Amino acid sequence: MGKLLVIGCGGVARVAIFKCCQNDKVFTELCIASRTKEKCDALKAELEGKTATVITTAKVDADNKAELVELIKAYQPDAVLNVALPYQDLTIMDACLECKVDYIDTANYEPENIDDPEWRAVYDKRCKEEGFTAYFDYSWQWAYKEKFADAGIMGLLGTGFDPGVTSVFSAYALKHYFDEIDTIDILDCNGGDHGYPFATNFNPEINLREVSANGSYWENGHWVETEPMEIKREYDFPEVGMKDMYLLHHEEIESLAKNIPGVKRIRFFMTFGQSYLTHMKCLENVGMLSTKPMLYEGHEVVPIQFLKALLPDPASLGPRTVGKTNIGCIFTGRKDGKERTIYIYNVCDHQECYKEVGSQAISYTTGVPAMIGTALVMTKAWHKPGVFNVEEFDPDPYMEMLNEYGLPWVVVEDPAVVE
Ligand code: NDP
Repeated sequence: MGKLLVIGCGGVARVAIFKCCQNDKVFTELCIASRTKEKCDALKAELEGKTATVITTAKVDADNKAELVELIKAYQPDAVLNVALPYQDLTIMDACLECKVDYIDTANYEPENIDDPEWRAVYDKRCKEEGFTAYFDYSWQWAYKEKFADAGIMGLLGTGFDPGVTSVFSAYALKHYFDEIDTIDILDCNGGDHGYPFATNFNPEINLREVSANGSYWENGHWVETEPMEIKREYDFPEVGMKDMYLLHHEEIESLAKNIPGVKRIRFFMTFGQSYLTHMKCLENVGMLSTKPMLYEGHEVVPIQFLKALLPDPASLGPRTVGKTNIGCIFTGRKDGKERTIYIYNVCDHQECYKEVGSQAISYTTGVPAMIGTALVMTKAWHKPGVFNVEEFDPDPYMEMLNEYGLPWVVVEDPAVVE
């Protein structure tokens, strides 16, 4: 049916590509393009004979718009799935715009260099006006809405798990369970154990930046910002058990605040063990999380990139990670004049993911919805010109595909709530 160009060949890309190959009626042809072509070739070789999808590979620097345009023009895809890093979002969107091809991603734009004066000026203004200081926000990509609409193409933003599935859960709750939603608590629990003293489950640079930043939540029409890890709660997660969790800023809060009418409060919590937090604090205190280049014995070194080279590759955690993830949302509100609380969540087992696609559950829970969002765009089940977040579409086909492609979900009435 269609041709997909996938940019990036890391942990999330691997799962998304495996899943596209399972859905080979939609994804009849696929090109894996990344910075390191050898990784693309290795994945292609692994998939050979297991799918009817015709796979090719290419080398591309996604920071370079001209290279992207050349590749898109040569391959002529129906859509581009960006599972490289958030740093590349805008160059890939620019290339899609020039070639008039639909665009899909899993994470919103943030700059690689946060000291870039041009970016900094916009950021400082946004911090003052919006009230949160995260380095990532949707303004950069939402600014493409008109340009994409004029070009007759679509951009689907944030189709991972969170954002992505949590956003679709919100649209589904509103469609089927509530007349009005008052509060949304997004709970992201990783009960997995990889046996290393310290490792991150996805790209270390992106992960550590997110976790070491200030927290924030949306309440009564504005942002409330907290110190990093200032708000801690405990929750007894189905199939995982009792865990400590901390309030973080997270990108879907920004779009849900806009797209779920009347919502009064949205918070995001992620579980962390004490050992993870102690390691992270120590690395931060000694400057290892810095993204500023420094000179070391005549070489330019970016501390967080050097740290990334020392840490286990997230893609290598698969065989050794045991346990489960539980990610979902607790909603409160009203239906037919009655108060209601529901919890929609998915539980995913690290070892089962590994058996199926050779990855741990964090990459799996992101890669599956990346394929689903892309399939809905390519089949035109979800298609309109412009740039959209996933909660702006009918959630039902997405929810059905989650069940079909390995992320079954449950709805629980009257769950324990987070204070
Ligand atoms: P990885 O670091 O494992 O993979 C990133 C890939 O992008 C690598 O193959 C890398 O190439 C490639 N890449 C990086 N820079 C460039 C470039 N300039 N040009 C071409 N390719 C490039 O990351 P993950 O797979 O863990 O994460 C992928 C994306 O998914 C990220 O944006 C992340 O934020 C997002 N994500 C979203 C989640 C959600 O729930 N919404 C959850 C988890 C992740 P190379 O191999 O050469 O380094």
